[in-house]
Amino acid sequence: ATPVGLLTGTGRGAQLGILIKGPQVLEDTRTVDTILLDKTGTVTQGKLAVTGIVTLGQRGEAEVLRLAGAIESASEHPIARAIAAAAAEGRPAGAGRAAVKGFESAPGGGVRGTVDGHVVVAGRAGWLRENGIETTDSQQKTLLSAEQTGATAIWVAVDGTPEGIISLADTIKDGSAAAIARLKTLGLRPILLTGDNAAAAAQVAAVVGIAPEDVYAGVLPEGKVDAVKRLQAEGATVAMAGDGVNDAAALAQADLGIAMGSGTDVAIEAADLTVMGNDLAQVAQAIELSRKTLGTIK
Ligand code: ADP
Ligand code: MG
Repeated sequence: ATPVGLLTGTGRGAQLGILIKGPQVLEDTRTVDTILLDKTGTVTQGKLAVTGIVTLGQRGEAEVLRLAGAIESASEHPIARAIAAAAAEGRPAGAGRAAVKGFESAPGGGVRGTVDGHVVVAGRAGWLRENGIETTDSQQKTLLSAEQTGATAIWVAVDGTPEGIISLADTIKDGSAAAIARLKTLGLRPILLTGDNAAAAAQVAAVVGIAPEDVYAGVLPEGKVDAVKRLQAEGATVAMAGDGVNDAAALAQADLGIAMGSGTDVAIEAADLTVMGNDLAQVAQAIELSRKTLGTIK
């Protein structure tokens, strides 16, 4: 279902570009006391860029990027878009990207496919393991040191052997820190929730004013739902803001699911409320407005 109504009350919701699914949403918006924030695409722009490549085997940087770019072209993930774009930049003029056979993707894990007869696997360590690919201690140290810079780092393996690590960086949205401060003023506890690594998550949390103990990193898509349930079991009334396919189940489980307007259709469908401007300031506005509106009605 698409959002059926505009935030009613004074009609300010319409002006603000806040779409809600029904009257009950106003009540839920008023009572939330905890807000889980997806990192990539919600607190950050979700527009990643490749910042570095480390080779681990026989193949050079350009070849690692070419193979990874070919399979990532079949994925919509922000990581995939960045790698596909970087590979396209390095391609000789007129050359098309290599064809991919047997493409598969694991949400929150990575991708796999065959390019030029080579099986290419890209993603996190758990996804490599699922594909029977082991990494050495020294390779893992290389990945960790990339992550310590705040980068998102992913493995690229070819024919069962780790061949490279690609680092990517994202940009925090301009309004995120101010919006999170406002959410705190409204009495909400902000929690950062991400499938990304702990160091990258901690760096974002520090900039936007989220407490280190309220950073949940390395969380798989199923883990996002569990995080919502756990907080609810502790008595919290939970809002969750997200944009990705991997956020949809958590958005549905939350007392108030909030989607970014630029998010995937599944996220928007699962949410109670959509902010068209993709801005967390609109989330704070929606909460302020719902409290004022219901305050005068009741
Ligand atoms: P987030 O919660 O930040 O939106 P995801 O749950 O989508 O992150 O992804 C978690 C991790 O899974 C990524 O940081 C990456 O390591 C890996 N991953 C997911 N999709 C891909 C992909 N298309 N290519 C490579 N790695 C991926
Ligand atoms: Mg996201």
